[in-house]
This record gives sequence, structure tokens and C-alpha cells, in this order.
Amino acid sequence: MRSAREAIDELRASAQRCVGVKRVPLVKAGGRVLAKPIVSELDVPPADNSAMDGYALRFDEWPGKTAPMPVSQRITAGSAPAPLEPGTAARIFTGAEIPDGADTVVIQEHTQASEEAVLLTRLPDRCANIRPQGQDIARGREVVHPGCRLRPQELGLLASIGIERVPVFERLRVAIVSTGDELREPGEQLAPGQIYNSNRYLLRGLLESWGFKVVDLGIAKDTPDAIAAVFEAAAERAHVVLSTGGVSVGEEDHVRAVIERLGALALWKIAMKPGKPLAFGRIGETPFIGLPGNPSSALVTALVVARPFLFDCQGRSDVSWRPLEIPAAFSKRGGPREEFLRVRRADGRLERYPNQSSGVLLSASWGDGLAVQAPGRDIEAGDVVPFLAYADLL
Ligand code: AMP
Ligand code: MG
Repeated sequence: MRSAREAIDELRASAQRCVGVKRVPLVKAGGRVLAKPIVSELDVPPADNSAMDGYALRFDEWPGKTAPMPVSQRITAGSAPAPLEPGTAARIFTGAEIPDGADTVVIQEHTQASEEAVLLTRLPDRCANIRPQGQDIARGREVVHPGCRLRPQELGLLASIGIERVPVFERLRVAIVSTGDELREPGEQLAPGQIYNSNRYLLRGLLESWGFKVVDLGIAKDTPDAIAAVFEAAAERAHVVLSTGGVSVGEEDHVRAVIERLGALALWKIAMKPGKPLAFGRIGETPFIGLPGNPSSALVTALVVARPFLFDCQGRSDVSWRPLEIPAAFSKRGGPREEFLRVRRADGRLERYPNQSSGVLLSASWGDGLAVQAPGRDIEAGDVVPFLAYADLL
């Protein structure tokens, strides 16, 4: 059996970015993955400006505590100042450009002023209250790197350097197929023996939160021909195909044989719990990942194993995460496989959902992440364990 780490590495070794580049308006760029480095052609701010409301002056000209200085101009944000007349101060407001000849801003709270003159009641530091040209971004600096998924702060940053259209990767199209004769959709009546299809909605949610386009092929019946027909349609329409169910070794598990017929297959038993069986291969040339059917297994393998591969296919460079280290509030014996326990944080410690069965999806909804238990390693209450927050994986 492979470890989860080995499985991830093997998948990623064969991953290739499979999306093209397009330009989108900045207003549409949120959540997209940057395709090319963005280098600033500007200094931000473009000129020295005032950090406060007050008076701009030349520090060495300050006449002392008792004599007022004449006020020679009024500079508001957005206006272009004249050079400062020697021996005078300029009324200035936050964000307004510092006039040539001034080097210091005195905040208005440290003055007594009329329209024409200002008396300083406290000496400022030389160069105080000035935001220097380029202090945020110096011209020529690479401000956002390719492979970065654009967050609100990147959107603001790109706007600050005047970027109007952004080169991004096209969104990865991921097809999903739920296999299982027992599955019905919400809204349908359940007959005896049937259950609702959880995985379709679970996977849709994951893929959408990762910014991919979902090509949803619904449910495939448990026959080789039905599965093959849906898989071929999926492979034609998507960059990557994901399925759930049918990857174990039972007689009704046909995914393996179908993938061998349509392309190539590696079926793995991964030493992880939940999520032991996982199929990886291709349908024609289209990469395929067959996740296990139990909803918690599908969730954990999608988050831990499929996610890095899919991010690579999308051209994201921020694939890796570093688990947090948080003390456990529970004790648990180690098993032969690496375990991804559904837990939640409470008072700085990790609580474990009592039923960790892979069929129990409430465990994942109850919690806010996964505690990772190494094979054969017991956890005692108080031990610090690696914790993967769902929020960091979405
Ligand atoms: P399988 O790998 O197809 O044998 O499925 C393992 C278990 O997961 C079985 O109990 C299935 O009924 C269940 N299962 C498979 N697919 C789904 C699904 N889409 N939604 C909910 N349960 C599923
Ligand atoms: Mg099945």
C-alpha cells in the first residue's frame, strides 16, 4: 500500500497544466489564477503625499515656538501643488501631494492656525507624516506571481498599479460522475434499497470552491457499458474526470475494468483512513481519478489527494499547505493506516467526532478540519497533532 504522500507525489508527477491563457477585465478576475507575472510600471504612491491633515513646511525653516509662519497655499487631495514659497507653510490634507520644497508635515492638532498664519505648538520630527513616493510599490517590482489565485487584496493591488485586464488561466473543467444503482437525487422518492446521492453535491461544492468549472454527468448505473458511455462523454467535455464509487474489488465495482478498456489504470490501495481504494488513470488522454464511494472517504481523498493534482492542472502554484499543530483533547490508538480524523477546534484543542466511520458525513459537517494521525502512532490527550483546516483546503 502507498502512503497518502506517495500517492500525491505520483499523481503530481504526471500532472500537467491543461488550460490556456486569456485576458479578463479586472472586475472579473477575482478567484482566477494569474497566468503571467505582473510587474508594476508605476511607483505607488506616485509622489510623496501627506499621511495627515496639517501643514507642510521645510523643517529647517521652522521659526521656533513663538513666531507664526505665513500659510501660502492650500493643497487638497487630487490637486497639483505649487512649489512651497520659502519661509511659509502650506495647509495640506491627507493624501495630498507634498509641494516641492517641503519635507515635513505638522499635524493640525499640534498647531494654532488662522487662514493666513500657523503657529506650531509642538516640533515634529524631520520628515514626519509623509508617505514617500513608491513606499507601497516601487516601479519595476513584480507584485503578483503567476499561479497565484487572485484574492481581494490582489485585486486591490492590481488596481493600484492601473492594471485593467489581467492574464489568467482558463478555468479547469472537471467532469464528475457518481456511480451506483442505489443513488437517487434529492427531490426523487426513495424506493427500498435506495439512498440519496451525496457525493455529486459534495464534489460540486469542492470544485466550485476551487474555482473550477464543473461538468456534471449525473449518475452512472453499475454496468460496464453504462459507466463507459458516461466516462467517454465526460472525457470529451472536460480536462479531468472524477468519479465516485465502484472502485473497490466487489463484483459490482466496474470502474477499474472500464478504465482499463478506455485508457490506462493504476488502482491503488492507499494506506489512509478513510479512503483506501483510489483509481488513477486516463480515459483516452484525459486524466481520471476514481474516488471511493463513501461520502467521507470521497471528501478526504478529494481534499488530500485529488486537490494537489487538480491545482497543478489549473496552473496554481499555491498547492501546498502546512498543517497547523494543535493539541488533541482526545486519546486514540494508532492503526495500520494514516488516519484523517474529522475534528473540530474548541478552546484551542481538537475534539474528535465520536463516529469516524467513512459513511458518516455528519462528522465532516460537525467539524472544521482533519487531524492527521500517523500509522502506529497513539495520540494521548494533550499531544500536539497536525491539523488541516477545511478553510485552508478550500
Ligand atoms: P462503492 O465504492 O460504490 O461500493 O460505495 C461505497 C459506499 O458508498 C456504498 O455504501 C455506497 O452506497 C456509498 N455511496 C457511493 N456513492 C455514493 C454517493 N454518490 N452518495 C452517497 N453514498 C454513496
Ligand atoms: Mg457502488
